[in-house]
Amino acid sequence: MKDKVKVELIPANFFRRYPCHVCGGATDMAATLAEVRSGPHEGFRVCERCIATRDFDAKMQAHAARLEEQAQELRGLMGQLDVPTFEEFQAAETAYRSDVREQQGLTAPRSENRRP
Ligand SMILES: [Zn+2]
Repeated sequence: MKDKVKVELIPANFFRRYPCHVCGGATDMAATLAEVRSGPHEGFRVCERCIATRDFDAKMQAHAARLEEQAQELRGLMGQLDVPTFEEFQAAETAYRSDVREQQGLTAPRSENRRP
């Protein structure tokens, strides 16, 4: 029989979604996390939905199957990607940030910056 892996309840440092290693989903902004605190599986996390339903092995089996499909997809994409250069990325990033800032009113339109 395999040794048990102890999952403990700990306070979350931030209210955000944390990945669940059982189902592949995420926590739901809970103040409590269920995590393995030490050993070879340290950091392994279980979300509150998995804790509620308790069908851990079935969910891990389904999650593992999805990860295997994703691994196969990644291997299938090798040698096929046509990706913009980092310089193109940076130019787009600058343009999009500027657009967002204007949409949020963080920068005044150029015409308002001019003094009469
Ligand atoms: Zn889960």
